[in-house]
Amino acid sequence: NADAAMYLSKKRGRNNYQFYNNEEKDILDRKFILEQGLTRALLNNEFLLYYQPKVDLETNTIYGAEALIRWDHPEYGLISPFEFIPIAEEAGYIIPIGKWVIESACKQAALWQKQGISLNIAVNVSAKQFQDKRFVKIVEDTLNNYQLAPGLLELEITESVMQDVEESYSMLQQLKSIGVKTSIDDFGTGYSSLNILNSVSIDYVKIDKSFIDDMLTNSSTASLVKTIIQIGSNLNFELIAEGIEQESQTNFLIQHGCHLGQGYLYSPPLPLEEMDKVIQKQQERLLSSAF
Ligand code: C2E
Ligand code: MG
Ligand code: MG
Ligand code: MG
Repeated sequence: NADAAMYLSKKRGRNNYQFYNNEEKDILDRKFILEQGLTRALLNNEFLLYYQPKVDLETNTIYGAEALIRWDHPEYGLISPFEFIPIAEEAGYIIPIGKWVIESACKQAALWQKQGISLNIAVNVSAKQFQDKRFVKIVEDTLNNYQLAPGLLELEITESVMQDVEESYSMLQQLKSIGVKTSIDDFGTGYSSLNILNSVSIDYVKIDKSFIDDMLTNSSTASLVKTIIQIGSNLNFELIAEGIEQESQTNFLIQHGCHLGQGYLYSPPLPLEEMDKVIQKQQERLLSSAF
């Protein structure tokens, strides 16, 4: 906390004699409290996973789900990963938290698998996890432990994590050899995009929401989206559109060859009980249409 206050006053340069104001103090206090609470959160099971359905855009069926972490904080209530993941990364907690996420997601996917529901489960992987030598072993052990088909697990990695192309290549090869799927998350927001696509083998590329937001109103964004879909079909990866909110976006995507997506148009991330209901409904619908 003192460090952070110092940082803020340094950032102000000349005005560093001015102590930080109340609003800044609240932010620093909250950050400090969150950081201090991370160990307890792991021990007390304060983290939980929400699931956002991933949809086949043409058939409107759910083929998978992205697991998204939440923190049910005793004082602050439900906290977004946008707020606490960076804090966990900085404080050196992301490896155990990431391990918990992989465990919980695989456990749930294995449960669905036992019920005859084959759902692809996607998990977000942060930089430090991806660079951790034990990562492949953790993934492999978890799959074995829950008897989950490796092909049902998808690891989402952002471009920025793959800056060291050679190391990433080796990691991705190892993951491929155990049979899990890999995807590039938030594609288009990093800066070495094409280089990465050319040098490593990945299964999916997730087109960032910002492109989906703009592609119907900005013709150069539309061209970029069409081009990346084209590259995907040439280099053999599938595209997943992130953050679809309008039917017109789905129509555009289907028309240009992107068949997978997720977004509020279909469903926001759901707590497990609600996700279960949605899956149940789909199972009933699929069953009744089979007769
Ligand atoms: P992401 O992996 O790119 O996940 C997509 C985010 O967009 C999610 O936010 C999701 O709720 C939101 N979203 C999905 N569809 C729509 C839409 O149609 N409209 C809008 N406005 N938003 C949509 P969320 O759950 O708050 O997660 C934020 C980020 O936190 C994730 O971005 C991911 O980078 C990170 N994150 C989440 N869970 C984990 C985790 O278990 N481990 C790590 N390392 N990072 C995580
Ligand atoms: Mg993601
Ligand atoms: Mg994303
Ligand atoms: Mg995103």
